[in-house]
Amino acid sequence: MSVYADNAATTAVSKRALEAALPFLTQEFGNPSSPHAWGRRAAAAVLAARQTIAERLGAKRANEVYFTSCGSEADTWAVAAGTAYGRRTDRRHIVTTAIEHHAVLGACKNAEEQGFEVTYIRPDSSGMITAEQVIAALREDTCLLSIMAANNETGVILPYDKLGAECREKGILLHVDAVQGFGHLPINVAEQQIDLLSVSGHKLNAPKGIGALYCRSGVFLPKLIFGGEQERGRRAGTENVPAIAALGAAVEELFEQNEEKNARLSLLRDRLREGLLGIEGASLNGCKDRSLPGIVNVSFEGVEGESLLLLLDMQGIAASSGSACASGSSEPSHVLRAMGRTNEQAAASVRFSLGFSNTEEDVAELIAACRSCVERLRSLRG
Ligand SMILES: *Cc1c(COP(=O)(O)O)cnc(C)c1O
Repeated sequence: MSVYADNAATTAVSKRALEAALPFLTQEFGNPSSPHAWGRRAAAAVLAARQTIAERLGAKRANEVYFTSCGSEADTWAVAAGTAYGRRTDRRHIVTTAIEHHAVLGACKNAEEQGFEVTYIRPDSSGMITAEQVIAALREDTCLLSIMAANNETGVILPYDKLGAECREKGILLHVDAVQGFGHLPINVAEQQIDLLSVSGHKLNAPKGIGALYCRSGVFLPKLIFGGEQERGRRAGTENVPAIAALGAAVEELFEQNEEKNARLSLLRDRLREGLLGIEGASLNGCKDRSLPGIVNVSFEGVEGESLLLLLDMQGIAASSGSACASGSSEPSHVLRAMGRTNEQAAASVRFSLGFSNTEEDVAELIAACRSCVERLRSLRG
């Protein structure tokens, strides 16, 4: 038996998403910018996907959605919109959190090199950050607040939905990295007064190589790629029509029976969490009552997370230590470190992330395999 429990790293492409892409990889190969029938059919598919995403985000207009190549690009672009706004208004301060994805942290580091000051808000030991904490960090010269909807390593949900009014009133742009939250959490950019929001295809059963940035009309979005008039002239380059069509289909699918699917996923997560915490020396990295359906992050005392992953892999189980981007390097997770874990505790962590296709049997298998692998590793240590 094999169990894939690394859906926060990437997901399988759904049948619907694949089927939506196929025509545009075969007979419908037109360039959306071409005025002939082939081009018009491709352009119609791009528009339909843009409308679906806009609608599901609660955007007022489809043209507030810009397609990108990935979530990292959307994050990078959003921070660039923030710094462009900061330069125009002479505001040189950015607020973000210490537990953002490296795409946002890297873009903020880049902003620091350009003379911006960045405040990185630290979470408590459960990975939580409160709205009050964030609001207290906002200043008169703040141009951008960038906060994730939910953390990709711990699953903890941040107060992304409670900051819009404050930001709008103070003239601060609000960017939400919703790569992990979209489809799982209530998101409505108009109601929540969000100015910029990032989405990634491969985290929601669309293919890799496609993402989207919502940018509220009226917010200046700097040009990212020069060339043609694609993406309202802000990001030139012929559109990735098959991936865009697939993303539209994946988003449609995500919102069908959405509540039932998420409720089922939450139940599986609860069962997994209880089972894993039943293993001796296990402790939760996260927050029980404010967590994404699907993600469980646990440290096993005295166990090397990387060794545990290796043993699990040998049994056909895919999980992850921290984020996929951070693994491969020996750096301990910046998220767990910010939560006050020691390097040793952080190195003892494993993240399981379930998807809609995981089953109760998968969860039972994960718990049993984890228990036996942890015991084996401990016995080897003597
Ligand atoms: C995966 C992820 C990203 C990056 O998305 P890519 O499409 O892989 O570039 C950004 N933010 C969060 C929270 C993520 O989980």
